[in-house]
Amino acid sequence: MRANTKEILQKFNIKLTKSLGQNFLTDDNIVGKIIDTAEIAKTDLVIEVGPGIGNMTRELAKRAGKVAAIEIDKHLIPALKENLNEFTNVDIINEDVLNVDIKRLTEDIRQTYDTELKNDKVKVVANLPYYITTPIIMKFLEEDPGIDMMVLMVQKEVGERIAAKPGGKDYGALSVAVQYYAKPETVLKVPPGCFIPQPEVDSVVIRLKVFDQPPVKLLNKDIFFKTVKASFGQRRKTLINALSNSGQFHLSKEEIKQILESIGVDEKQRGETLTIEQFARLANAFSGQKRNQGFD
Ligand code: SAM
Repeated sequence: MRANTKEILQKFNIKLTKSLGQNFLTDDNIVGKIIDTAEIAKTDLVIEVGPGIGNMTRELAKRAGKVAAIEIDKHLIPALKENLNEFTNVDIINEDVLNVDIKRLTEDIRQTYDTELKNDKVKVVANLPYYITTPIIMKFLEEDPGIDMMVLMVQKEVGERIAAKPGGKDYGALSVAVQYYAKPETVLKVPPGCFIPQPEVDSVVIRLKVFDQPPVKLLNKDIFFKTVKASFGQRRKTLINALSNSGQFHLSKEEIKQILESIGVDEKQRGETLTIEQFARLANAFSGQKRNQGFD
């Protein structure tokens, strides 16, 4: 049996750092559900972001082939090591996850343990530090280090934005960005009482199943993301005004109007009503315009 979180914190004289999002999950049922949702097997390589003192890491280590646990806070490392001392399949990496070359890390691990890790995809499981939720998720999705699934604890409102469908108030650039790479699903609501210390917000566990191929074909990914950003930049404005006011496209309002017409989108619609397919058509129409071809 693992020691109680409070006892470990006392024993190692750990002062939790709020600015690092240190709210430790103490509910074993929730840990179990997270791990079940990730469908972890001995053939899997799992990356855990922010293991803290390792309570979830222990359960991951029991089920996975190999766990790479990336923790920024050096003060937690002695407790983390002791809590994991009976496992030989955990690598602790004391780094800021945003600075880690994930592709390199997974390649290095595979070279050492290649016979066991038969699933050539990687799973990411984390109770995320909420202050950098979006950069962490986008790093893993954009750098594409061969991930097939992410199971993540996030702030409830962020989870709602990630999974939102067109037309609602939660649907925005984050929804489209994540849904370009993965299919999101909300798995579980988690109240503040499941953590030490209790966070001031509600949490949810989400699962992102990463696509082998994106759901839409793009001529230029940068233009797609600029189009999405510009469309949501002024949410109260019509699409035509949001796009032309953004100054992102080297086109007159009339030209933008014609493009919208050509893809069958009403200029008076708001950006938040467009599906990812419509954003793709719009971005591809912009990409096809000579004046936009060289823009970065
Ligand atoms: N996994 C533990 C649990 O479930 O109880 C701790 C989760 S706590 C919400 C977030 C953890 O992420 C903390 O241990 C914190 O120190 C760590 N962390 C914060 N920023 C980080 C970063 N940039 N890179 C890696 N870890 C980070």
